[in-house]
Amino acid sequence: MKITYRLNEFAKLINRSVKTLQKWDRFGKLKAYRTATNRRYYTHDQDLEYMGLAQNDALSKKKVIVYYRVSSASQKDDMKSQKQALETFCAARGLAVDEWLYDIVRIPKLGWVKLTESLRFSGNILSATVSRIADKWFISICVQMETTPFKKSENQALVVGIDLGVKKLATLSNGETVEGVKPLKKLSRRLVQLQRHLARCSKGSKRYIRQKMKIARLHYRISCIRQDGLHKLTHRLCQSVRVICLEDLNVKGMLKNHKLAKAISDMGFYEFKRQVEYKAALFGNWISIVSKWFPSSKKCSNCDNKKEDLTLSERTYHCHHCGFEIDRDLNAAINIEREGTRLLVY
Ligand SMILES: [Zn+2]
Repeated sequence: MKITYRLNEFAKLINRSVKTLQKWDRFGKLKAYRTATNRRYYTHDQDLEYMGLAQNDALSKKKVIVYYRVSSASQKDDMKSQKQALETFCAARGLAVDEWLYDIVRIPKLGWVKLTESLRFSGNILSATVSRIADKWFISICVQMETTPFKKSENQALVVGIDLGVKKLATLSNGETVEGVKPLKKLSRRLVQLQRHLARCSKGSKRYIRQKMKIARLHYRISCIRQDGLHKLTHRLCQSVRVICLEDLNVKGMLKNHKLAKAISDMGFYEFKRQVEYKAALFGNWISIVSKWFPSSKKCSNCDNKKEDLTLSERTYHCHHCGFEIDRDLNAAINIEREGTRLLVY
């Protein structure tokens, strides 16, 4: 016997309203069958057809891919049970599925949205937030899961002191230096070009809006490049060192210096500190923050003599007391490492 559904049953089955089905019937998108008494009914084949999974000859050769959907209503259920529900759904309809894709999310009022990347973590989904940068939309999904300890490198060094600077992003007390990526400096010419073009557009015009979007996209790209460089550096640091000593930088105060503000914000000191702090917690590292009043660059790392008349232009530190000569940033990094370990011990 053929399986048939009444109008309201079929509406429930395919999760559509009765009104929509009536409209589809009228416009011929999905024609209902009629009984002798002129009542509408639907068949099982139509159900499959609606799902885009009809099993006629042409389609049966096609690869069947099923998107695994995370609906807002079932967000609290475990992902596995949702997959199981889908599998039984497909098995009941006699569908051979070649591939499961887990990348569709239902956003209230917008409906089903396809993601460019599938969910990488499994667990209970607690909430989701939608945000937008330039013309790109993002959804951040909060997943509750068991934490696994992060992999640390085998020969982890014990302590490192870090001096952040404008010329070089970071100087480590072991002598290593890290160049910043400085994306704003690299792309500033393009930015100025775009902004000049914007100034020539009449406000509110189509061209103006388009130009503004171009600028927003470039700003987004700049921040992406900066974030990438910082993430690589902070990850490596937290992975390879047990104790990280940092200077408590007064970033807001430094930004008041207009000559340096652009360079400082391009380096992303604040973001660097934020990343080190949360990654240290993930890796189980210690952070020691040295007070901003600690004279890290004025002190001699060899004899502890303080050099009061140190100018910003002196790139190499020369000690009058013991004749010690060292790179200015390296000297500061060594001082920060010593002060940081002292603070941790006491
Ligand atoms: Zn000295």
